[in-house]
Parts: sequence; C-alpha cells; structure tokens
Amino acid sequence: MNDGRRALAELAHVEGEYLFLRFGPIERRYQLKNFSEEDHEYVRNWSTKARCGACNQPLTTRTKKAGRKSYHLACFRCVACGKGFRGGDRFQIDQWGNLGHVEHLAQLFDCDSCGRLFPRKGASRNQVLPDSRVACKQCRDDAVFDLEELKSIRNETTLILKEVGISPPEGAIEWKLVSRRELDNEAKRIHVGGNLKGLTVTQLRRVTSKSETTTSFSHKVYVLFGLPKSELRSVISHELMHVWLNERGVEAPADVIEGFCNLGSDQVLRQDPSRLAWILIGNMQTNPSPSYGAGYRKMMAHLQKTGWPRMLAEMKARAKKP
Ligand SMILES: [Zn+2]
Ligand SMILES: [Zn+2]
Ligand SMILES: [Zn+2]
Ligand SMILES: [Zn+2]
Repeated sequence: MNDGRRALAELAHVEGEYLFLRFGPIERRYQLKNFSEEDHEYVRNWSTKARCGACNQPLTTRTKKAGRKSYHLACFRCVACGKGFRGGDRFQIDQWGNLGHVEHLAQLFDCDSCGRLFPRKGASRNQVLPDSRVACKQCRDDAVFDLEELKSIRNETTLILKEVGISPPEGAIEWKLVSRRELDNEAKRIHVGGNLKGLTVTQLRRVTSKSETTTSFSHKVYVLFGLPKSELRSVISHELMHVWLNERGVEAPADVIEGFCNLGSDQVLRQDPSRLAWILIGNMQTNPSPSYGAGYRKMMAHLQKTGWPRMLAEMKARAKKP
C-alpha cells in the first residue's frame, strides 16, 4: 500500500486483523501481519480518521450525521430516487454501504447472494435469473451456470477440506445445477424445508456375502445455478461435509449436523480473500436459524476448544450402529 501498491489498490476497510484492498471493483482481504511496519503505520493513521458510513473513505467538510455514523453529503442519498436524506427520513443500509428510503425499497432489488441493494430500474434482464432470484451486477458477472466450472470449484474445496481431515468421498457424486423450484422439490421429497441453496441425497446399498457385509454409497448433490463463486464454494463445502457424515452413518440433531457442515463452509470461506466471502462468514455468525446459525456458533466454539482431529473423532462416534 505504501509503495507502488498504493497506486494500484486503495485501502477500503479494516476489520480486526484484516484489511481489505480495493482493486477497481474488486475488494480482497489480507492479513495485516503480512505487511511491513510502514504499512501498519499507514493503516493505523487510516483507522483513526473519521470515515463515511457508506463509502468508508475519510470524511470531508460536507458531511451529514445520522445515528452513530456520518456520511459524505454525496453518499448520503437513496440509491432508488437519488435524493439526499433529510431529517426524519427512514432508510435502510446494506453491508456494502448502499442506502435506500424505506418507502422506496419496492423500487430496489436485494441481491440474493450478497444482500446488495440496487435500483430495479437499470438492472439488466439477466440479473433476474430464470427462477426469479435476483443478482447484483457483481454477483451476476461471477455466477456459475456450468457444471465443469462447478467441478473445478469442487476440486479446490475438496483439497481444502482434506487439510483438516475430511477425506474425499468414497462413493460417486452426481452433481446437478438446478433452479430454486427443482431444489425445493427435491427437498420436499425427503421432508427438508427452508431457504436452501444446496442439498445432498445419499443412497446406500448393503451387499451381504457369505463372510461380510459391505456398504456402498452414491450421492446426488443439488446446487442452485447462478451463484457467485464464493457462495458456490461455501455451498459445495457444506454439502461435501454432509457427504462425509452420511458415508459414516452419523446421526445427530439438526443443529449439530448443520452447524458441523457450516464449519466446512467457514474453513473454505476463510481461504477466499473476496469481500463476499467475508460477508458470508459474517452472515453465519449472525444467522438467527437454530441449526445453521446457532448450531454453527456452538460447533465453532467447540472446534476452537478441541481442534479438528478430535472434533472429527467425536462426530464419527455418533455413527449409527448397523
Ligand atoms: Zn462516502
Ligand atoms: Zn428514495
Ligand atoms: Zn450480489
Ligand atoms: Zn445442510
């Protein structure tokens, strides 16, 4: 940042031990400890300056205060009507710093992946997916519709999970990119509900010969088409954790199962330097769902105490006896 890099990248955001650098439209996350002392100084200075609640850049003289935050006058406006907010106006802000009048939310889309608010007017036609999910421009540009692309992301995530002891699946997996409706239909068939983005269905076959019984597995994994890559990584790793549990016959309450599977997402997202990956981790940390949110937080607290090897041993010990 302090040398030539500063010209290329702009410091966008600092959070704890991480900083986010903006390269044009893309933000990447870095660990502060990997930078020079001079850079640390720069970040310290940067952090002490008052910043705009929307764009996160230093405040200038023309600012507006609302609640605990201050904004550049130019930033403190509704992305739907373009007008600046005035005293008493009620507005909503997304995690990217876009603001909208509460009365104008109907004129805005809310990205199904990253939560970004953006005007319906001016959105291109392909930002509304065939199953009527909505993607902001950034997520749409990064969306995956191709099975080969999914498979290369699957290879990456399989390797990351292997590092913590999640061995690759034994059984074959048939991957399917599907619409919201197809996914919900598959979920209904096995009595699963909720706002799913992926689903694993495992079939096991027991073959008994004279001397022994062997079990073989085959899986179908359904994943929504059109997810941006970081979210797709998260969904694929969550489903690969289900595959791991299913192949070991693990049975446990939903908060343990879904919480555990989200640890896989967490592991993969932490190695993904995009701002979206960071937001997706934040969403798990604040998700009110008893299984995906509270379950994840409970399992994460446990993981931090035990480490992966013991956690995996404990999960295996929950296997149903044949
Ligand atoms: Zn601003
Ligand atoms: Zn407005
Ligand atoms: Zn988005
Ligand atoms: Zn799950």
